[in-house]
Amino acid sequence: MPLEHVYQRNMHHKSHKSGWLRAAVLGANDGLVSNASLLIGIAAAGKISLLPLTGIAGIAAGSMSMAVGEYISVQSQSDIEEADRKMEIEHLAIDPEGELEELAEIYVERGLPRDLARQVAEKFTEKNALEAHLRDELGHFEMHKARPLQAAIASALSFAIGGAIPLLGALMPTTSGKVWMIVLFTLIGLVGTGVTSSKLAGSPLVRTVLRVFIGGSLGMLITAGIGSLVHI
Ligand SMILES: [Zn+2]
Repeated sequence: MPLEHVYQRNMHHKSHKSGWLRAAVLGANDGLVSNASLLIGIAAAGKISLLPLTGIAGIAAGSMSMAVGEYISVQSQSDIEEADRKMEIEHLAIDPEGELEELAEIYVERGLPRDLARQVAEKFTEKNALEAHLRDELGHFEMHKARPLQAAIASALSFAIGGAIPLLGALMPTTSGKVWMIVLFTLIGLVGTGVTSSKLAGSPLVRTVLRVFIGGSLGMLITAGIGSLVHI
């Protein structure tokens, strides 16, 4: 890894932004690919007049499904965190000395000498025992806390925005070139989500954009194939 990369990475940690922004980029990407595929399927089957209705239905169905899916997945994560938290509160109440020793043991494993580990554990326990256990034993951080509603809204909205892009392509004033307009708009959108996702993750630009681009194109190609097969 080039030195400037290491440097940049240390200057701007990305992981704290991972939650709802990740959901938003994924949602936009899903919206682009699934609505484009849907529209191309319909256009390839020759049902041009159905394109606007199909696009809107696709956006509505997709955003709802994204919202529900994301909500359930993040909520179950949040349930697990909550159960862990309750268990930790119980353990601290029943066996404070054992918990203190457990915390010290964690710091020893991370490389501190035993007496220093014990000191650190005592200080953290004094300040906020529960917080220290949640953080250092279970890896819970307040900024990473699962937020189901926020994630659900972010992914539904971004799916709708992503899905609107191929629909715009379908609405372009051409009759023979509909498929190509949908493809063109979608590919431009995919470059957009690829660039955003690389910026968010701090991952290499070209590789990330290519990955998103190729994945999306494959999706469209396959449904175009299915659409022209079931030409009815
Ligand atoms: Zn504990």
